[in-house]
Amino acid sequence: QWIYLNGEFVSKEDAKISVYDHGFLYGDGIFEGIRIYDGNIFKNKEHLDRLYDSAKSIMLDIPLTIEEMEAAVIETLRRNEMRDGYIRLIVSRGPGNLGLDPRRCPTASVIIIVEQLAIYSEEAYRDGLVSVSVSQRRNIPDALNPKIKSLNYLNNILVKIQANLAGVGEAIMLNAQGYVAEGSSDNIFIVKNNVVYTPPCYIGALEGITRAAIMELCEQLGYKLKEEPFTLHDVYVADEVFFTGTAAEVIAVREVDGRKIGSGKAGPITTHLLQKFRELVKVDGVR
Ligand code: PLP
Repeated sequence: QWIYLNGEFVSKEDAKISVYDHGFLYGDGIFEGIRIYDGNIFKNKEHLDRLYDSAKSIMLDIPLTIEEMEAAVIETLRRNEMRDGYIRLIVSRGPGNLGLDPRRCPTASVIIIVEQLAIYSEEAYRDGLVSVSVSQRRNIPDALNPKIKSLNYLNNILVKIQANLAGVGEAIMLNAQGYVAEGSSDNIFIVKNNVVYTPPCYIGALEGITRAAIMELCEQLGYKLKEEPFTLHDVYVADEVFFTGTAAEVIAVREVDGRKIGSGKAGPITTHLLQKFRELVKVDGVR
């Protein structure tokens, strides 16, 4: 397995960065997770744009143009003979010294890892996940803007720990006001009376690229979609609940906090959206 590390291709064993890298010392950096399906980099442009927007927002200079980054991703895939899998792009502030001033880091570190992806089983897509809500609150725009896909994932990791303790695959995070925000690494949708709802990102959610694809699919398929805040009560009484994300795709939720959702299996709209999403991933991207 070849890893792209600052312009060079090194083996997995040799892919190492300095202990003085501020990505390691402070979580100072950003990342992206992208899927490749049968040689098609799904929503390539959207992911690269989000990466460069995140970088701009934290005043991080990526030492590659967006075109060079795309070429580096394609070369990493080629070297690994990867046609189906997951691409992790990481840009950290780079090595400096102790002290969090980013001016101490003259050059950002750029890393590209491509790997096979262990996703949920087909049964999980059919039967849905069990989920719980957790006490951890999502950071909101006046703290760290959730639009920045930063290397500071402690908040999400604490959610994951709570999910692990509850023995579930994904958990539901609220914001400080008690509105449903998202999962630890997925956006959330509910369906009630044939209307599809997802929280606006200002509630405290990453502007997910799968989320956007699903919103577009809803429009194309004629499902009414509302981007509005909702609470756990709305989740409990929803007809369908599902998560979306690059890794998870579209995964139904059959139970939340002990309340059975709808029929207790993946609902018809969720199933339809998953099917259409899987058709989309084959065509919408860069070959
Ligand atoms: N929310 C968080 C916190 C995430 O880390 C991710 C994963 O990238 C998502 C949502 C889903 O976003 P996307 O569909 O762009 O992968």
